[in-house]
Amino acid sequence: MKYISLLGATGSIGKQTADVVRSHSNQFRIVSMSAGRNICLTRKFINEFKPELVSVQTKEDCETLKTEFPSGDIRFVYGDTGLEEAAVYEKATVLVNAVIGSVGLAPTLKAIKAKKDIAIANKETLVTAGHLVMEEARKAGVSLLPVDSEHSAIFQALQGEKEKNIERLIITASGGSFRDRTREELKDVSVEDALNHPNWSMGAKITIDSATMMNKGLEVIEAHWLFGLPYEKIDVLLHKESIIHSMVEYHDSSVIAQLGTPDMRVPIQYALTYPDRLPLASKNRLDLASIGKLHFEEMDFGRFPCLQFAYEAGKIGGTMPTVLNAANEEAVARFLNGDISFLEIEKLIEKALNNHQTIDNPELSIIQEVDLHTRQYVKKLLISR
Ligand code: NDP
Ligand code: MG
Repeated sequence: MKYISLLGATGSIGKQTADVVRSHSNQFRIVSMSAGRNICLTRKFINEFKPELVSVQTKEDCETLKTEFPSGDIRFVYGDTGLEEAAVYEKATVLVNAVIGSVGLAPTLKAIKAKKDIAIANKETLVTAGHLVMEEARKAGVSLLPVDSEHSAIFQALQGEKEKNIERLIITASGGSFRDRTREELKDVSVEDALNHPNWSMGAKITIDSATMMNKGLEVIEAHWLFGLPYEKIDVLLHKESIIHSMVEYHDSSVIAQLGTPDMRVPIQYALTYPDRLPLASKNRLDLASIGKLHFEEMDFGRFPCLQFAYEAGKIGGTMPTVLNAANEEAVARFLNGDISFLEIEKLIEKALNNHQTIDNPELSIIQEVDLHTRQYVKKLLISR
C-alpha cells in the first residue's frame, strides 16, 4: 500500500489523481489532502477517501469542516502552514503536488526534508526554485517523479539509457487554443476563447499558459532541472495532435518517444507506480491507423514570445525564472479576471524581466521576496496604465 499526501486535490490533476486512487484502492490510500476554496468537493473527498488530515485555504472553511466532521478522526488545518502540514503528514510516503503556482514551493521543500518521494505536477515550483528543489532532493535521497505529460514521456524514454548518450530532449507542444491564429487575430480574443484547449481539459491557469506558449517555456525550465541538461539541448516542436508526448534523441541518432491519447491519468499513475505499471481502464486507447497522420512544425518564437522569454530567463538563471513565473502568474490571473487583454500578458512579463537584476544562487527567502516584489511590480504597472 502506498500512502499519499495529495496537495491540490480539488483541481484538475488532483481529481484525476483521485481517480487513479479510486481504481486501485488496494494499492493507494490518500492519508492527507489539501484543497483551496472548493469545500463542496472537499466534503465529498473526505467521505470517500477518509483522509486523516485535511488542509483548506481559509480559517472559516476550516472551522466549518470541523463542525461538520466532529468525530475527531480528522485533523483540519488551513493556510500556508496547513499546506505544509499536509505535505509532511507522517504516514504519507509520497507527496503528489498538484497545487497551482509558486505556493507549492515551501511544502515541497518541507516534504523533501521529511524524506517523502515527490510526484511533481506543480511545475511553478521547479521554475521558481529548481536549484533548491533538486539540491534538497539529492541531499535527502528522495525521488522526484514527473507528472507533467512531457516530462513523464522523457522520463520513460530515458529508462535504461546513459545520460552521456543524450543528444537532446524534444518537448512537443500542441500550440494551445490559438495555435492557428495570427498575432493580429489575438488582439481581441476573449477569456472563453482562450480557455477552449483543443486536446486537453486542464485548470484555467495552465490552459491560458498553453495559449501564450508560456506553458512550454515553463516546461523547458522544468526539464532543465529534472533531467540536468543545458538549455541548448532542450528543443520544442509543435505537434498539434498531442499523441507523441515528448522524445529523447541519442548520439547514435535514435529517437525514443512515448505515445498515447491525451490522458493525464497515465503520467499520474506512472509517477505512483514507477518502475512498475498498473493497468488503466481507458475507453480511448491509441489507434494510430484511425489517426492516420501526425503533424510537426518548427516552433515560431516571434509568434510565441513567451517561449523566448522562458529560454532567456532560464539561461540567465538565478532569480530571473522566479520573476518570469511570478509575473506570469499575476498577469494570467488579471487576464482571467477580465482586467487586461490577452496580448498584455506577454507585455507585463517582458517589463518585469527587463526591470530585474538577477541574483545568483538565491536561497528560499530571496526567492520568496523576489516573487512578492514581482507581483507588486506588475500590480503597479496596471494601476499606472
Ligand atoms: P487547478 O487550478 O485545476 O487546481 C489547482 C489546485 O490548487 C486546486 O485544488 C486549488 O483549490 C488549489 N489551490 C489553488 N490556489 C491555492 C492556494 N493559494 N493554496 C492552496 N491551494 C490552492 O490546476 P491544475 O490541476 O490544472 O494544475 C495543477 C498543477 O499541475 C499546475 O502547476 C499545472 O501547471 C500542472 N499541470 C497540470 C496539468 C493538467 O492537465 N491540468 C498537466 C500538467 C501539469 P480549489 O480548487 O479548491 O480552490
Ligand atoms: Mg505538459
